[in-house]
Amino acid sequence: MTSGKRVLIVSNRLPVKITRKDGEIAYQTSEGGLATGLGSIYKQGNNLWIGWPGADLTDAEKAGVTQDLSVQNLFPVFLTQQEINDYYEGFSNETLWPLFHYFPTYTEYNPQYWEGYQKVNRKFADAIIKSASKEDVVWIHDYQLMLVPQMVREAIPEVSIGFFQHIPFPSYEVFRLIPWRKELLNGLLGADVIGFHTYDDVRHFISAANRITGLNNVANEVGVDSRTVVVDAFPISIDYKKYRSLAEDANTRRNERKLRQLINHNKLIISIDRLDYSKGIIDRLRAYQLFLENHPELRGKVSMIQLVVPSRDNVPKYKELKEEMNRMVSEINGRFSTLGWQPIQHFYRSFPIHLLSALYKAADVALVTPMRDGMNLVSKEFIASKTDQHGVLILSEMAGASRELSEAIIINPNDVWDFSEKIFLALNMPEDEQRRRMSAMQQTVSRFDIFNWVKNFMDKLTEVKAQQQAMLTRNINTSIRQKIAISYYYGMKRIIFLDYDGTLVPFNKNLLGAVPDEPLLDLLKKLSADPHNKVVITSGRDYQTLDKWLGHLPVDIIAEHGAWYKDHGKFWRSRRDLNDAWKQEIYSVMNQYARRTPGAAIEEKSYSLAWHYRKVENGLGDLRAQELTADMKHLVADRGLQLLQGDKVIEVKSISVNKGRAAKRWLEKEEYDFVMAIGDDPTDEDTFKVMPEGAITIKVGSKISAAAYFLSTSEEVRALLLEMINSPHTVDEAHQLLKEAS
Ligand code: UDP
Repeated sequence: MTSGKRVLIVSNRLPVKITRKDGEIAYQTSEGGLATGLGSIYKQGNNLWIGWPGADLTDAEKAGVTQDLSVQNLFPVFLTQQEINDYYEGFSNETLWPLFHYFPTYTEYNPQYWEGYQKVNRKFADAIIKSASKEDVVWIHDYQLMLVPQMVREAIPEVSIGFFQHIPFPSYEVFRLIPWRKELLNGLLGADVIGFHTYDDVRHFISAANRITGLNNVANEVGVDSRTVVVDAFPISIDYKKYRSLAEDANTRRNERKLRQLINHNKLIISIDRLDYSKGIIDRLRAYQLFLENHPELRGKVSMIQLVVPSRDNVPKYKELKEEMNRMVSEINGRFSTLGWQPIQHFYRSFPIHLLSALYKAADVALVTPMRDGMNLVSKEFIASKTDQHGVLILSEMAGASRELSEAIIINPNDVWDFSEKIFLALNMPEDEQRRRMSAMQQTVSRFDIFNWVKNFMDKLTEVKAQQQAMLTRNINTSIRQKIAISYYYGMKRIIFLDYDGTLVPFNKNLLGAVPDEPLLDLLKKLSADPHNKVVITSGRDYQTLDKWLGHLPVDIIAEHGAWYKDHGKFWRSRRDLNDAWKQEIYSVMNQYARRTPGAAIEEKSYSLAWHYRKVENGLGDLRAQELTADMKHLVADRGLQLLQGDKVIEVKSISVNKGRAAKRWLEKEEYDFVMAIGDDPTDEDTFKVMPEGAITIKVGSKISAAAYFLSTSEEVRALLLEMINSPHTVDEAHQLLKEAS
């Protein structure tokens, strides 16, 4: 990292907590994995961690606290009780938390909470904006701050922003339930890199962005204006070495021995969670109860220690959960206990880390069985603590960790019967199999630890920023526009190839709806009226439509990607070597798909057939297009045809027809000193590729292209052409502009 560049970590909570002891303020440092991992960053140089210190303070106290924290590179955002109620306990914990964990019936949609959420996100954004400069890197954490990336982006457009979400991102079908879904997505899309724990979260986010904001993606890159936002999976982890050495500590060993005595050297099953409905506490108790029912021979020989850390227990849903949990524990203990044995030892409190370590170390089986969990660190801590490689992990497939820890016994927590049998299986697993599985999981967790996670995320952010910068130099800005206008001005013999749909006019859902408007006709008229210019419209459309729309202008036209062409003032001509005998067969395949896909349409041209799906339900169209492509693949190859994927269209035509080959006819006939080609479609790539050196090639929309430059929309294309037409009329003016531009 260069000395001028700073990293700002931003999260709801700071890694220290303020408490009051006898009226005095005290600071308690977090030992959590995230604080440890990010410690290597925020403690360095001028870096900073911005967050809420976790207490309601008086104004006098705030000044002192700010001062105290600043020495530790921490910057507090103070929140009022009302803000905490609405933003944190309300919108974060009663709207986003339940919905993102697939509990839509627990979700509150309260406009007052939403107001509070926006207000506090603004507060955080303002704190960042006040402190950050455009060279800095801002890394924002979690679902409490989803609007912050966009707020910061608007104020400091060039700054590097990463966002990581520590909880799941739900499927589009669930996410769409939130009235403020669009605002939340746009908020996140202010970032350059958006990270989740798993690939499924990534898929869900991209699908929601496609459907709700209409943005397109190529693989895991979403195009937002002229920026590319990368969405990727970064599974979080723990400080592996710390848990390993803790497990070997003499103190831990002593506690481990005490624990074993406490349970009479029975087999030990453990579970450790915060009190939360997402953790599957009730179903786990059901599975344990069923296990005791079905295996009476093991009663008295197995003990379960259930540790539940108090959390949000003033919220009604959590209160209910706590009551249900207590009821079940009493029921199981009441039903199965004997004088010398109790099936569950239940603790409703927090344990210090060395006791946790002893618990992990002593356990024969760990039950980590949430209904839904972003990652779940307890599972990884258990793995790290097993220095003797004895022990079995039963892990829910609904936890992010299950994607990495595939050697665990993976269960569906709703399948209580199977779950109970897996407990039996785990207790009877042979030692060598336990060792084999544990060793594989330890390799995974030790390699992908918290430090690796931090490094991967930061590296990706740097890479994406560099990529964006490289792209930026190809975006047509004022200075590039002026240069183009000047070289146009100096051209004595110019040729300009222009694609039509998506380049001169925006896409229209209705195929025949993209009629040229008056300003466009006027623009093309002016452009082609200049005796130094030859304008060639190069389209995939049929020649009849193009003739009707543009035939009256003094332009040349390439239709159907080059199957037809017309020089201004002459008749339409088609390539003599083409035949259309194949059309009937392909048509019947396309028609089968059109018949079962509402909104799809087949366009028949003289030498090609196009299957359009712009009006088909989002997603379904792509699926059908893939199916159709696979279905026609061999047919197309056998007939000497090619299949082209355009923007919401697939087209079949002769392999020898392409816009590039067609454009060559013009380029070979005469010499030009100004050559330009503009297009948005994959088929325009053929045109770009045949352009001579020094030609100005421009891709509209996507950024993946052989073209030299990029523009975003057809309006920008028109503006550029207008600027060329109105380019300076004296050589002196041109020289002056050239000087300024360089
Ligand atoms: N934990 C703790 N004290 C306890 C019990 C658990 O500090 O008494 C820690 C545990 O070591 C783990 C974290 O709480 O690091 C729980 O993280 P996890 O990802 O499993 O669940 P979350 O509570 O974040 O949903």
